[in-house]
Amino acid sequence: MDTIEQERRGDNAEAATELDALIIGAGFSGLYQLICLRDRLGLSVKVLDAAGDVGGTWYWNRYPGARCDSESHSYCYFFSKELVEEWEWSERYPEQPEIMRYMHHVADKFDLKRDIFLNTRVASAHYDEAANRWNVETESGKRFAATYLITAVGCLSAANIPEIPGLDSFEGDWYHTAQWPHEGVDFSGKRVGQIGTGSTGIQAAPVIAQTAGHLSVFQRTPTYSVPANNGPLSDEFKQYFKENRGEIRKIVESTPNGHPFRINERKVFDVSPEERKKIYEAAWATGGLQFRACFQDLMVNKAANDTAAEFLKGKIREIVKDPKTADALADIDHPYATKRPPIDTNYFDTFNRDNVTLVNLRTDPIERITPVGIKTRDKEHKLDIIVFATGFDAMTGTLLKIDIRGRGGLTLRQAWEAGPKTYLGLQVPGFPNMFTMTGPGSPSVLCNLPVAIEQHANWITDCIAHMRQNGKERVEALPDATEKWVAHVNEAADATLMPMANHSWYHGTNVPGKPQVFMPYAGGMTRYRAICEDIARNGYEGFSFTGNGEQMTTAKNSTSANAFAAAEAINSPGV
Ligand code: NAP
Repeated sequence: MDTIEQERRGDNAEAATELDALIIGAGFSGLYQLICLRDRLGLSVKVLDAAGDVGGTWYWNRYPGARCDSESHSYCYFFSKELVEEWEWSERYPEQPEIMRYMHHVADKFDLKRDIFLNTRVASAHYDEAANRWNVETESGKRFAATYLITAVGCLSAANIPEIPGLDSFEGDWYHTAQWPHEGVDFSGKRVGQIGTGSTGIQAAPVIAQTAGHLSVFQRTPTYSVPANNGPLSDEFKQYFKENRGEIRKIVESTPNGHPFRINERKVFDVSPEERKKIYEAAWATGGLQFRACFQDLMVNKAANDTAAEFLKGKIREIVKDPKTADALADIDHPYATKRPPIDTNYFDTFNRDNVTLVNLRTDPIERITPVGIKTRDKEHKLDIIVFATGFDAMTGTLLKIDIRGRGGLTLRQAWEAGPKTYLGLQVPGFPNMFTMTGPGSPSVLCNLPVAIEQHANWITDCIAHMRQNGKERVEALPDATEKWVAHVNEAADATLMPMANHSWYHGTNVPGKPQVFMPYAGGMTRYRAICEDIARNGYEGFSFTGNGEQMTTAKNSTSANAFAAAEAINSPGV
């Protein structure tokens, strides 16, 4: 494929390729959006991706232990019955290589590769108001012009490498988990330092520890984790899935978080402490993200959440033999699941190994990186390899790296100076015909992503179809509707306990200088889906449409009072 891409690039270095729609990103979002626009609407569409293959986040995140936290039978597309029927996952949680195989299977089945340009990083996208075209240029100078620009860049794709002084002087090797070498890394006998204990670090450490000479895990903020309880899918489960595909689809599309389990309706204090303990033990044994679904009020009632938090901290102390290490791991300062809750395979048990040490950065912070390792206040840790499991400039980072300019040359960076503002996470005022898939202000990362992605791609496709049927050339979110939506996104977050974990990538606080705004929509996928459907049914309230020659208008700006459910109604958030 690379060769074809290179030939294509060479063929047409000067003239812009004229298209109906251009999609940036060939991950889950970009592939399905291509299918919708090309095969459903018959548009001319191309997809550009900086990566050397399809797969999006799964192309880049190939660190040891990389595996999806959504269960495999729900981490997939549901739009094609045939695709659902023919693909069989091997484990409860799919590993990175298996997800890549799935993405290739999809791309081949729907003949997508012919419209995807790989190794093609977008440098700029400028809206030409007079022509009503998006002019897109890649870093290699290739140009495209399209009526619709769809950003499908993923929420977690701009790696965050913290500016720790001295990194340049380090004489060993270092890697960020989201930029992992394709040939892998040989840890055998090496002294490895891993910085970061989020979902990624929790997956990576147990695997690195198996071959490393010694692993030092540098922990700044301790976090909860529940066992994934991963394993091969049994024949019985595969059979169950085959017989209940329709029902499973119904569940993922009607639960607030898009996962294949329902949130239990009982509340924490409806049951006795003994009964509660039994429920938590059973959820721990089942494992996975559904731990948070065992009571409906865990995310809205602090006292209720405390019971889960104490249970999980108790588990850490049960597993980890050294009391000082157990204390440092269990010294968690935020309610359970107010940061994205990791799930793991042997994470806490890894600290019982002779070759693993926890470095508690709360009491012994990193001062600098030296030629031979990491110097914390109390000690120099000699290392051959440093692994940065330090996360992402999430949700906005990748988009803001592209020079995106809308009407009147307004840059996206200017529009989002005080934090991202979108209408439904789908559009930004001043950027006509640009759609942001799983953008800030949509459920995105609080939902099982393929479910959120299918909804977005379908909605965008319907909107473009509506425009074409009605002779409209431009669609743009109106400022007033956008302000109301942003307020609603904040209300939805405030109705949960999530603002209590104010140091998290949900808020942008993990990247120095980033505006601190709660970015995803916490009102739940079900509510979000209904709002989007209502808005479309009511003539796309809050959006302005114009035909060629017409001025953009701000006339129709009435966002239905019913469309945004009141914050009080948010009692089972999509988290
Ligand atoms: P993350 O949750 O942002 O965790 C980053 C870790 O690095 C945190 O422990 C953070 O500590 C630490 N860190 C950052 N800068 C540091 C510094 N200067 N010094 C010391 N420690 C530092 O990132 P992530 O683990 O990559 O996960 C991001 C998201 O990706 C997840 O929440 C999840 O949504 C997704 N993900 C999904 C899967 C999956 O489905 N399998 C797997 C991995 C990730 P602080 O907390 O103190 O900042």
